[in-house]
Amino acid sequence: MTPATTFSGRKVALFGLGGSGLATLRALQAGGADVLAWDDSPESAARARAQGFTVSDLHDADWSEFAALILAPGVPLTHPVPHWTVDKAKAAGIEIIGDIELFCRERARIAPQAPFVAITGTNGKSTTTALVAHILARAGRDVQMGGNIGTAILSLAPPAPERIHVIELSSFQIDLTPSLDPGVGVLLNITPDHLDRHGTLERYAGIKARLIAGSDLAVVGIDDAPSRAIAEAVVGPVVRVHVGAETPDGGLSARDGLVVGADGRPLADLNGIGTLRGAHNWQNAAVAIAVVRALSLDADAILAGLKTFPGLPHRMEEVGRRDRVLFVNDSKATNADSTEKALTAFHDIHWILGGKAKAGGIESLVPLFGRVAHAYLIGAASDAFAATLDGRVPYTRCGTLDVATAKAAEATASSGAAEPVVLLSPACASYDQFRSFEDRGDQFRARVRTLIG
Ligand code: ADP
Repeated sequence: MTPATTFSGRKVALFGLGGSGLATLRALQAGGADVLAWDDSPESAARARAQGFTVSDLHDADWSEFAALILAPGVPLTHPVPHWTVDKAKAAGIEIIGDIELFCRERARIAPQAPFVAITGTNGKSTTTALVAHILARAGRDVQMGGNIGTAILSLAPPAPERIHVIELSSFQIDLTPSLDPGVGVLLNITPDHLDRHGTLERYAGIKARLIAGSDLAVVGIDDAPSRAIAEAVVGPVVRVHVGAETPDGGLSARDGLVVGADGRPLADLNGIGTLRGAHNWQNAAVAIAVVRALSLDADAILAGLKTFPGLPHRMEEVGRRDRVLFVNDSKATNADSTEKALTAFHDIHWILGGKAKAGGIESLVPLFGRVAHAYLIGAASDAFAATLDGRVPYTRCGTLDVATAKAAEATASSGAAEPVVLLSPACASYDQFRSFEDRGDQFRARVRTLIG
């Protein structure tokens, strides 16, 4: 744990008692703060009490006594409307910050030069964070990974001169971190997302830009207009990463799976690395390479790390093979944009899709239908998706994931293709039939493992 000492001997309000909220509460108490903690959800409050914490209703508190409001990132700071605790904190004139800010202050206090990599972007954050951490750990470095992925930042070991913190940050977390100052700051990409929570694309991009502005070295994917503009505005050193033929000045490019440096020399061949398939993963890998090079890893260590990357569950995860047939769990693909990445990465696809559809359905995927040998429909979106598939791709209405998996496995067994792929990439939310996308992916994986023995 990293004790948060900033508010030692002072009183603070903490709102939001989910996983990171409890970790923050623990760290603030370990650092000597007097914390009044609360959550609007009775379940979260009860869970905190069950773990031995005192929970006090902040409605009744005297806000003039607080030095700060520590807010969980899931709680609206500005949009659609500020949370009631935000209004109270503003009225009391106190700062509103999150757990990442507490970490930054602790780092500044105990080890200001400690390596700190902060990674954001609309897509690919978790993959890139996991990849950077994996390459570094495999090279023998002392790595702590967390933030928006896995472990809450204040549950990690404290900053130290030889210890590298690799931290995934959502825009909500950045918004609560006024003194964000990583050694290496990464922006992968920006596309419209979470605008209900950020107001406009400009404001959303502005929050992401703050991470880059505070970094000693910036690594920026320049394949969308907002990210390109942010890279242009950087005052300090910046490594630009482009997926395409031209290598930016002093930067990196990735094309056909080959990552190339500024001098035109290839740095890594991603072809054949199953966990880094697809152009989106070339961006993630090229960015990761830029980061670990900045931390002075040599070419051999980088290649060794890339080749052994286990990937993340539910993101084009190779679940297993039966003879020539590859089974892939892409349950994280809850919309057509994500599924597009998977359809682009494979051929001869036996595609399991459906669930609770998002606006626009799968219309945008029609140009990729040529890669699909057969579609297997599940869940609530079956009628709508059947209408889009009709006359373009043969399909079977399967109802459930179990039936779809069995039918797809059966069909691929007699397929003449070199490497048929059974791909669960639903382009839908899971809630009509599953608890979560993880639950959906876990069930698929278990079913496949039974099928292939
Ligand atoms: P995040 O943590 O930002 O949600 P993940 O690494 O978990 O991102 O990937 C989630 C999904 O986003 C993947 O399944 C893939 O469809 C898509 N994706 C991953 N990396 C990128 C990228 N660099 N550009 C665009 N889409 C991506």
